[in-house]
Amino acid sequence: MKTPELTLTRLVAFTLALEVCFAPAFSQPRKTIFVITDAEGVAGVCRQDQTDPKDSEMRQLLTGEANAAVEGFLAGGADEVIVWDGHGGSQSLSALTIHPRAKLVIGDLGATMTCERGYAGIAFVGQHSMAGVRKGIMAHSYSSLGIQNMLMNGRPVGEIGTRAALAGWYRIPVIFLSGDTRATEELKAIVPEAEVVAVKEGVARYACISMSAEEARTAIRDGAARAMKKLAQIAPYRVDGPVTIEIEHTTRNSLPIDAGLAPGTELVNDRTIRYRGKDFLEAWVRYSGGY
Ligand SMILES: [Zn+2]
Repeated sequence: MKTPELTLTRLVAFTLALEVCFAPAFSQPRKTIFVITDAEGVAGVCRQDQTDPKDSEMRQLLTGEANAAVEGFLAGGADEVIVWDGHGGSQSLSALTIHPRAKLVIGDLGATMTCERGYAGIAFVGQHSMAGVRKGIMAHSYSSLGIQNMLMNGRPVGEIGTRAALAGWYRIPVIFLSGDTRATEELKAIVPEAEVVAVKEGVARYACISMSAEEARTAIRDGAARAMKKLAQIAPYRVDGPVTIEIEHTTRNSLPIDAGLAPGTELVNDRTIRYRGKDFLEAWVRYSGGY
């Protein structure tokens, strides 16, 4: 007959064995980094004509920076790096030249940008600053032709602020950004712990002092590795409470006749519309499905 002590010992041994088997799966989730690329913040890109997705030199410069970031994240401990071709309708990167260990995302990702997949961190490569920023190289908020200004809770924002808030809604931190000086400052203002690399400085909207491609790649690789190492210390950017997203279109864009009729929307004037939500995601989804 078994003694109660022996049964207990077996039970403890069995529990320990279970923990050994399953603990790694539970305690160490796969670390996937989602990289958003753009063209205006890449070293050596300073004129509007260079941002044409078919511009072969820009594509090489951008690919080099994206691949350097991938290398850095992998060296810093990432299990997987996913690169979203975020510029010019996803026509700027190619599976032929993307880093062999990266995955390439092509296409419009909708309001959530696939954040529901649960990334360990978000990173920007080649990022520009928001519309209206002095000495921001080709500064704009999503569309230089269509959008004059974008406001979140009454304050100017661009791609950096809104995407950081979107990631933050999913409790994902923005850990890294490379771009022009103004873009790096824009992220630092909301995520002070993030690693940033300024690859060029704006003299004016279409004038810059840029690093060489080689120097930029080295700096990005090192910065991405540093960001990965301090991942746990970087807090997600949370925008709590009710949120408004206001879009002021450019002068040539009067809003359509039915603008402002959908729930949570109101017209501010002929070319400005405001979206309200109980939180960031609700306001953002309303904007993404609106004008
Ligand atoms: Zn952009």
